[in-house]
Amino acid sequence: MKYYSTRDKKNVVSAAQAIAQGLASDGGLFVPESIPAVTITEIQTLCKMDYRKKAVAIMSKYLEEFTEDELTAFVSEAYAENYDCKEIAPTRFLDDSTGVLELWHGPTCAFKDMALQMLPRLLTASLKKLGETRKVCILVATSGDTGKAALEGFADVDGTSIVVFYPHDGVSDVQRLQMTTQRGNNVFVSAVEGNFDDAQTGVKKIFSDREFAEKLDEKGWFLSSANSINWGRLLPQIVYYFSSYCDYVNSGKIKLGDEIDFCVPTGNFGDILAGWYAKKMGLPVRKLICASNRNNVLTDFINTGVYDRNREFFTTISPSMDILVSSNLERLLFMLSDDASVKGWMDELKTSGRYDVGSKALAGIQADYSCGYATDDEAKAYIGKLFKDTGYLMDTHTADAYGVLAKMRGEGENFPTVIVSTASPYKFCDSVLDALGEDSSKSGSELIERLSAVTKTTAPKPLAGLDGREVRFTGSVEKEKMPEVVMNFLSKKD
Ligand SMILES: *Cc1c(COP(=O)(O)O)cnc(C)c1O
Repeated sequence: MKYYSTRDKKNVVSAAQAIAQGLASDGGLFVPESIPAVTITEIQTLCKMDYRKKAVAIMSKYLEEFTEDELTAFVSEAYAENYDCKEIAPTRFLDDSTGVLELWHGPTCAFKDMALQMLPRLLTASLKKLGETRKVCILVATSGDTGKAALEGFADVDGTSIVVFYPHDGVSDVQRLQMTTQRGNNVFVSAVEGNFDDAQTGVKKIFSDREFAEKLDEKGWFLSSANSINWGRLLPQIVYYFSSYCDYVNSGKIKLGDEIDFCVPTGNFGDILAGWYAKKMGLPVRKLICASNRNNVLTDFINTGVYDRNREFFTTISPSMDILVSSNLERLLFMLSDDASVKGWMDELKTSGRYDVGSKALAGIQADYSCGYATDDEAKAYIGKLFKDTGYLMDTHTADAYGVLAKMRGEGENFPTVIVSTASPYKFCDSVLDALGEDSSKSGSELIERLSAVTKTTAPKPLAGLDGREVRFTGSVEKEKMPEVVMNFLSKKD
C-alpha cells in the first residue's frame, strides 16, 4: 500500500517513508491510497483475540512492508507490563447503552501512550528499511501530555535521542514532575522562558534551520518529530475502536453487526479521525461525536462547513483540547474532496485564518459526524454527578465528552455509545477535586493523595511514585538558546 500527500496526490511514498518523514515535503499530511476493508466475519475473529493480536491484525493491513513477526515484536513491547491492566484498553460499562473506553492505563496515564509506545518502534524500523545510517533526534515542544508520552516512548530506544521543551509556567505540577524525573540515557528535558507558543515557535525554527541541520548531519544526526500528524501515530489508534466494539459485543449488550456511536474528546482531531478510518474499514459505527470544550471551533465547523480560527482562545480545565487549529482535520477533508481543494483551504487558513468547504464536503462530514461542546462548569458538574451517582471517576477531558453526550441524548434516548476516555482523573487532580467540591489548593503529590483519600480510588503507580523520584532536569532557557541546548546535548552523545 502506498501513501500520498493531502496537498498533492502525485507525491507518493511507501509506508516506511511516510512514517520516517512525518510531514510531506509540500506541507501536506500522508494518507493511505485506499482504505482496507474488514468484514463482519473478521471482526468476529478479532473479538476472540487479545489487544496485541488485534493490533497486529489491523496495522498489518496498512503496513505491507512490515512482516507479521516484526509487528508482533513491536506490539509485545508497546502494550505489555508498561500497562497496568492486561486488557490494555478496557471498556467499562456505566449502563447497557454507555461504555467508557479507558485509554490511560499506559506509562503516562494519558491516551497518547497508545500511539507513542508504538511510534518509536515503527519509526526506527522504517529508518532501517530506508537504509538510513544517521541517528534520529526527536524534537518536541509540549503543553504537557505529549512531551511525557514521547519521552516514555523513546527512552533508551536504540538509534534515537529525544529533547523536550515545555513552557516554564504552562504545565501543571504533576506534568512538570513527570517530565523532569524522566529516566533514560537518551533523553533531555528543558523548560523554556515563556508560554507554549514560545516553545513551539522555537522548535519550528530549529526544524527550518538549514545550517543547523548540516551541522547535525556532520555529527551523524538528523531531526524528526513525534507530533500527531505522523501516520505512525494515527495508525495504532485505529485499533482501539475495533477492540472497544469487540468489548461491547462480548459483553452481550449488542449483537455482532449492530451499530454503535463513539463520543470523542477532541483537540488535534487525531483520535476521532482514527475512529473514522475504523468506520470506513467496515466497523459498524453510526456516528462519531466530536466533543470540544469552550474552544469550539470544530463544533462550528461541523455545523456550518466554515472553519474559522479568528476567535478568542480560552484556557480551560481540559488543556489538551485547547486548540484552535486541528491539524489532522486536513486528512478528513482530503478524503471528502481532492488535493487541489485541500491545498486551497490550507492556504486560506494560513492567510485569513478561515475557509469554507462548501455544501458537498459538509454533507460528507455530517454523514459521519455529530458534534457539541461542554463548558468548564458543565464538565465539573458532570464529574461530580457521575461520581455521586455511580462511583465512576472521570477526568476533565472525558467529562467534556460525557457532557456533550448527556446534552445530546434526549429523554429516554439510549443509542449504544462508547465515550472515549483520554486521561486518568489523577492527571488533573486539582480540577477533579474542585469538581467534587473538595479543597484543591495543595501542590502536586499532595493532591494525588487527597484525591485518592476522598474518592477511595487508587492512584496509578506512575503518578503515585513521582514524589520519590530524582529530578534530573532543572534547567530553563530563553527561546533563543534552544538550538544551543539541542546541539550541546547531542554533542555529548557521540
Ligand atoms: C491529546 C489529548 C486529547 C485530544 O486528542 P486529539 O487526537 O488531539 O484530538 C484529548 N484528551 C487528552 C487527555 C489528550 O492528551
